[in-house]
Amino acid sequence: MDRYLRLPMPCNKVLATYVWIDGSGIHLRNKDRILSCTPYTAEAAPNWAFDGSSTGQASTDNSDTILKPAAVFRDPFRLEPHVLVLCDVYRGDGKADPSNHRKFCNDLCEFHKAEEPWFGLEQEYTMLDIDGWGLGWPKGGGFPAVNYEFSYCGIGAKYVAGRDIIEAHTRSCLYAGCDFEGTNAEVMYACWEFQIGTTVGIKAADDMWMARYLMTRIAEDYGVDITYHPKPMGPKHPGVGMHHNFSTKTMRSDGGYKFIEECVKKLEANHMKHMKRYSVDEQGNRMRLSGKFETAPFEKFSWGVANRKSSIRIQRSVKAKGKGFFEDRRPAGDCDPYLVCGLLLDTCLGPASGGGGRACK
Ligand code: ADP
Ligand code: MN
Ligand code: MN
Ligand code: MN
Repeated sequence: MDRYLRLPMPCNKVLATYVWIDGSGIHLRNKDRILSCTPYTAEAAPNWAFDGSSTGQASTDNSDTILKPAAVFRDPFRLEPHVLVLCDVYRGDGKADPSNHRKFCNDLCEFHKAEEPWFGLEQEYTMLDIDGWGLGWPKGGGFPAVNYEFSYCGIGAKYVAGRDIIEAHTRSCLYAGCDFEGTNAEVMYACWEFQIGTTVGIKAADDMWMARYLMTRIAEDYGVDITYHPKPMGPKHPGVGMHHNFSTKTMRSDGGYKFIEECVKKLEANHMKHMKRYSVDEQGNRMRLSGKFETAPFEKFSWGVANRKSSIRIQRSVKAKGKGFFEDRRPAGDCDPYLVCGLLLDTCLGPASGGGGRACK
């Protein structure tokens, strides 16, 4: 492949890979087009159409669906001047597709800009063989032949699998321009985590979706599949989540702990409403939030300082300083961060419409 990647391209030919979330709400699709110059911003990249009936986003008799560029990244596969263009999906009638939660999130981020919302997202995921079974797991079951006693932050072929993919992914995300923060091997064999953050507003969720794209696309080169399923290896094994760490200017300012407590109360009042939207597979997230493996039960809201068995965890240092952030541990690995970040803003700070206006500052 290197031989072809070294071929010089004409100066007026730029390859742009358009990337979008399909109707499943978790799988990503891409298609390439040749542009005559590099779009460095979403505004500079043209809209494009695709067949939404093949992605669960339209019916066959009304299939023209629109890709609207939302964020542009450097392309780590082809290098500069080529780009990856993250898009959101609009229907033929100009309305946001039901799978498109970016608009919901972006409107809230814009409306609450003065509060400078920060997000830190911890994506856990599992590597699978293309037969759908855990990478390196003994075929035909075989547990406990896989021993993950030492897998968390572990080393050694017996405890972790797929490290080359982690290295390739880290470098690709940094090259692309994602606010990529770190990685670690997780408790379950072939399960890993990466973090995006701490990032202001919509960029956190944009970068997370692009980092998910890069993960799946890089793993493809290794013949490995990636799943974000909340309980990929069944009830006996650990689950997979995406903790959302969240703060606002008020929370980060002196005395902010009081506002964190107020927000936790609001989250409690909306618990089941949120649980319906914190995974594309509610049953899967129910299986994950079993009260075991460092989780709180699905149905029951709880919070606590330094408590990894609660829905919301507040770090000890935050309590001690009286300001900082909180961690929502409920979202599943396959949640849509646009939806979760949007719901956190909507619940803690209020809806984007204002509903009665805001006082002058
Ligand atoms: P743990 O696994 O113990 O929950 P991690 O280090 O994986 O911890 O994740 C902690 C997350 O908290 C990081 O993603 C980081 O960006 C985020 N974070 C730290 N401070 C803030 C803050 N003030 N506001 C929002 N997120 C924050
Ligand atoms: Mn973590
Ligand atoms: Mn983790
Ligand atoms: Mn966490």
